[in-house]
Amino acid sequence: MKIAIVGGGIGGLTAALGLLRQGFAVEVYEQAPVLREVGAGVQVSANGTRILFALGLEKEIMDVASEPGGKQIRLWNTGRTWKLFDLGPLSVAQYGFPYITIHRNDLHQALAAGIRRIAPDAIRLGRQCTGIDQDARGVTLRFADGSSARSDVAIGADGVHSVVRTALFGADDPTFTGIVAWRGVIPIDRLPERFRRPVGTNWIGPGGHVIHYLLRRGELMNYVSVVERANWQVESWSVAGTVEECLADYEGWHEDVHTLIKAIDTPYKWALMLRQPMKQWTQGRVTLLGDACHPTLPFLAQGAVMAIEDGFVLSRALAANADDHAAAFRHYEAARNDRTSRIVKGAEANLGRFHNPALSDAAQAEAYVDAEWEESKIRQRYEWLFTYDATTVPVSDDRSMDLVGAQ
Ligand code: FAD
Repeated sequence: MKIAIVGGGIGGLTAALGLLRQGFAVEVYEQAPVLREVGAGVQVSANGTRILFALGLEKEIMDVASEPGGKQIRLWNTGRTWKLFDLGPLSVAQYGFPYITIHRNDLHQALAAGIRRIAPDAIRLGRQCTGIDQDARGVTLRFADGSSARSDVAIGADGVHSVVRTALFGADDPTFTGIVAWRGVIPIDRLPERFRRPVGTNWIGPGGHVIHYLLRRGELMNYVSVVERANWQVESWSVAGTVEECLADYEGWHEDVHTLIKAIDTPYKWALMLRQPMKQWTQGRVTLLGDACHPTLPFLAQGAVMAIEDGFVLSRALAANADDHAAAFRHYEAARNDRTSRIVKGAEANLGRFHNPALSDAAQAEAYVDAEWEESKIRQRYEWLFTYDATTVPVSDDRSMDLVGAQ
């Protein structure tokens, strides 16, 4: 079976590597002329590192990742700190795999290197897909440069503005959340010593929150913050704002937040859109994965990990049903749709929690945090995410095939 993948992001590359390791002929068509991920960091919980390790990338990933010892919550104005949960060795003890924070480009390069070791020419750059047709025998992709490519099946891994999704199901209809996200990456030597502790921090406040964690063995600090603000609606990773504009969004916040913002060269801003989960991802010989079918607000830090899980489960489903793509796609959707929909909904619920009006008053805020981040509630919110095992979820009617592609 020849498989075409549109989009060489984190999800597309994971699917490609999983499929190549099982002997499929795979071509990835990426619109960018150079293979690199746009800035910023990403958190990968144990359910994601489990897959990266199964794909043979353990050393490459751990050489460039940071491993937070835990996560903490801090109150926007007083800086009061609460423990959220422990990670580090505890993640490995509880879930079998580490919780890491990693620069998106480092993760992307590790996946691409894994692909190129097996198939040096599998990733085709500068190929922007503009259309897709299918017939009884296969799929034709059309590209902006006038070229086309034929395959047996195709996977749309082309992100939140997916051309493939639009071709299959029509344009989507997102709602602006009224929230803008800021992000920036800071060399650690620009920050005071106290920021070097390997702890992921989530500042919460009325109408906004701020997250920061270390990347690249502690050499970089990743900054992401969101603020409720109705006057910016462009959904793009690459629109630059200014430090002054970002600072103005966090007026009255703790000086540690201001120290971080002032250390960013260029903060980028992104309008957060809400989309309802799709019930169906497949049409005939074409299916979708990652943000193309279930973009989520980033408030559970699982969007990239979901793209990784999708890519891996899809590669297993195709391997276990190699002569029946319809069965493969059916099992893939059955394994993934409920979980990803639950994440989209769970991330939306965290919005009300992180920005609650109760946080404006320090005394009220303490009672609110104690109640909302009580240990059993935290476990309930995160445990089901971290324990998921994409290497063994059923992907065929024949249970004996379910371990195909697990390692
Ligand atoms: P993408 O990463 O968007 O990749 C799509 C690829 O397709 C790109 O390379 C693009 O160039 C290519 N492409 C697009 N159109 C075409 C075309 N027509 N032809 C050819 N190629 C095309 N997730 C986490 O797990 N943890 C986090 O901590 C986290 N933090 C986040 C913070 C913010 C502020 C935001 C907005 C998101 C965050 N996410 C996080 C989510 C995560 O970034 C996405 O869910 C993830 O990147 C989705 O991967 P993907 O492969 O589906 O899509």
